[in-house]
Amino acid sequence: MSSVLPTSRVEKLMRQEILDLHAYHVPPSAGLVKLDAMENPYGLPADVRDEIAHLVADAAINRYPDPAATTLRAAIRTTLGLPQGMDVLLGNGSDELIQLLAIALNKPGAALLSVEPSFVMYRMIATFAGMRHIAVPLAPDFSLDLTATLAAIRREQPALVFLAYPNNPTGNAFDAEAICQIIEASEGLVVVDEAYYAFASDSFMSRLPDYPNLLVMRTFSKLGMAGLRLGFLAGSTDWLTQLEKLRLPYNVGVLPQIVATVLLAHHDELLRQAEQIKCDRAVLLAALRAVSGITAFASEANFILFRVANATTVFNGLKQRGVLIKNLNGAHPALADCLRVTVGAAAENACFIAALKESLQDTINQSA
Ligand SMILES: *Cc1c(COP(=O)(O)O)cnc(C)c1O
Repeated sequence: MSSVLPTSRVEKLMRQEILDLHAYHVPPSAGLVKLDAMENPYGLPADVRDEIAHLVADAAINRYPDPAATTLRAAIRTTLGLPQGMDVLLGNGSDELIQLLAIALNKPGAALLSVEPSFVMYRMIATFAGMRHIAVPLAPDFSLDLTATLAAIRREQPALVFLAYPNNPTGNAFDAEAICQIIEASEGLVVVDEAYYAFASDSFMSRLPDYPNLLVMRTFSKLGMAGLRLGFLAGSTDWLTQLEKLRLPYNVGVLPQIVATVLLAHHDELLRQAEQIKCDRAVLLAALRAVSGITAFASEANFILFRVANATTVFNGLKQRGVLIKNLNGAHPALADCLRVTVGAAAENACFIAALKESLQDTINQSA
């Protein structure tokens, strides 16, 4: 047997970019009011639960799933109103689709462009794939810096551009006209990531036929299916047939296929829950803005970004009081002293606001 220590063997063999990465950190949340991950707080109606229970009991889990997920894909096409001639490619969460796109388009020297601050997986997955990453800073009000973005596109000719619409973690939806200009200026593929479509007032889905270099990506995670791990790319078959070759054959299991098909038949029930979340978002935004010392940003998603002095102290104070949100202080210079709270059920939001006021009082007392 080799006398080389396992760790040094690992370090010798692994790519340096991977050794340098920090794993995506998911903090423990047991026993806490969980407002950190943009989950839907509501359960399913009893009849839907029963329907799922029966279908799952009969599911052929000894067999591999339908590799083409024919039934589920048809349900997505009809329920979500895909334009004529467009199809979908399914992913084990949309994170998997970001990875698939990066692998597919990473020719030597190719680049992936995203704005920042935005969804951190764009940069992380570029690194996983060994792809050059270009970050264009957003304007101070978190809108697109169109001039800088168009200049970066001309200069770097990215093969792949990701724009989250609405954006995470800032919550705003970029100007649609500016996104159109970016698509038109790009030689590469532009992916509009609509993870928060259920909470937003606009979508690029109907614009798919206008742009041959556009794909729309969505996930069901924020709509109440985070546990299923299901996302999809919508677009022309020119793109999807090529990308399909990279999809691992059984990436969506038997149970997610069955359960998501049932839930899509009840899509309007989930959209009603989303409407409730949008109402509660307005209440929560007003409550945050009523607290002195807080700047809360308007949101078209199911979370709100806000800035507060001593964000990390406030974040820890909230956790001590049993409320888990997301601390973005240190994640990006533009997010200094920023925290992000998911819109939960009304009682959870009230609990958060009460704990926030107490935590703020603590920081004031400490500095007095
Ligand atoms: C949450 C999120 C995703 C990932 O969703 P999964 O389908 O759960 O992997 C993708 N993009 C954005 C902008 C998100 O906020």
